[in-house]
Amino acid sequence: MRCNPAYSHYDAIIVGARCAGASTAMLLARAGLRILALDRRAYGSDTLSTHALMRPAVLQLSRWGLLQRLLDAGTPLITATAFHYGDEEITIPLRASPQLPGLIAPRRTLLDRTLVDAAREAGAEVLHDTTVADLVSGADGRMRGVRIRTSDGMHFTVTTDIVIGADGIGSLVAKHCGAQTLRRGQVSAAHLYAYVPAEPESSYHWYFRDGMSGSFIPTNDGLACIVASVPTEQFDERFRGSHEGARMTTLRALSPGLAARAERAHDNSASDGRTRVFRGVPGFLRQAYGQGWALVGDAGFFRDPITSHGISDALRDSESLARAILDGSAQAFAAYERERDLIAGPILDSTDAIASFDWTLLDIENRHRQFSSVMKVEFERLAAWEMPVRRIPPVGWQPPAIMPSGRTRSGPNHDGIVSIR
Ligand SMILES: Cc1cc2nc3c(=O)[nH]c(=O)nc-3n(C[C@H](O)[C@H](O)[C@H](O)COP(=O)(O)OP(=O)(O)OC[C@H]3O[C@@H](n4cnc5c(N)ncnc54)[C@H](O)[C@@H]3O)c2cc1C
Repeated sequence: MRCNPAYSHYDAIIVGARCAGASTAMLLARAGLRILALDRRAYGSDTLSTHALMRPAVLQLSRWGLLQRLLDAGTPLITATAFHYGDEEITIPLRASPQLPGLIAPRRTLLDRTLVDAAREAGAEVLHDTTVADLVSGADGRMRGVRIRTSDGMHFTVTTDIVIGADGIGSLVAKHCGAQTLRRGQVSAAHLYAYVPAEPESSYHWYFRDGMSGSFIPTNDGLACIVASVPTEQFDERFRGSHEGARMTTLRALSPGLAARAERAHDNSASDGRTRVFRGVPGFLRQAYGQGWALVGDAGFFRDPITSHGISDALRDSESLARAILDGSAQAFAAYERERDLIAGPILDSTDAIASFDWTLLDIENRHRQFSSVMKVEFERLAAWEMPVRRIPPVGWQPPAIMPSGRTRSGPNHDGIVSIR
């Protein structure tokens, strides 16, 4: 498989090709831009995630024509959410519509691959096993390109009109561009999960007791993901010894029924038995764009996984960023950040309110209602969006300062292999 880029110049180069990067690549390529997306990990590789998509993410996948592919791949359709507050269970059926028949929790090996395939079908070049080692800036400080290193040790420099950081929490693009942190969350939680063979099941289950929470999330291949969550300080103090032991102790305290389901993983090879651990990172909101660069997904906005909203955020913001890039004006980039923060701020607040674990069973339900009302606003905004399209510049149009348009520069003189260092 080819591992070097086909062109020396791209309209946009995207660092990271998972939910945020592959979605942005797909949307920009569908609008006719020349796109290069790079990921240091392999095509179809797994990553830390408990998979549960909320309504905004499923709506996006449906609008983009990808939901059916995920269902056809055997992803179970979730039609209800059960909240277990102590011993009380409240089941809320999903309001289904043709666009949103239910929720889904696809494995990342499937979801990220589906987005990458869609980006490639739209004409984007997506290279895996390829690391962006550095960014290249001009004398004016504006980002002009990236230096990449392939898995076989080749180095290339490729230029672009905009470098997009879809490279996750530890974003190289954010660091290199000096993206300011606009807000910091106050709390974090540790999440420990493993897969268990499960009967077909059409509900998410969320469990809460004082100081702990957990979940049962049906995913692909007849498996469910069973998660135990506690404050990070508690994880540091008490969970160092045995992660699986700690996870099971938490699940038993949360719900004997859930613990019994989790036990099944121990003697089943399909589940691989491994406990995945995320120690927790406080949420943050970073500056979303600057001269020749922008951030999308976790690179720009991270919130604790306890509300299962990261993929929704990534898909929403990728469409909003694509719209800004296609417009190209400074105002459009400002609108991208404003639109993101209008939704991200309340999501960060209401996620922290849950991830703090400073609630009792009496008030956690209210915090969920609060989060649900934030998502309702988000969902209504998304439902009103139109797909981003490429605007044809009027005769005599000059590229704005924020993003000199490479669209005028994608001529044959930019074809051919780039410099090898
Ligand atoms: C334990 C856990 C559970 C979660 N559960 C859920 C859930 O149930 N539902 C939900 O919606 N969200 C969940 N999330 C959040 C969700 O996983 C993230 O929000 C989502 O993955 C963000 O996507 P992204 O594309 O922005 O970044 P990432 O998924 O982090 O992808 C970034 C990619 O960039 C690549 N990369 C980084 N640097 C470079 C470089 N220099 N060169 C090349 N490539 C690079 C990486 O290899 C990676 O593949 C969870 C997160 C965690 C940690």
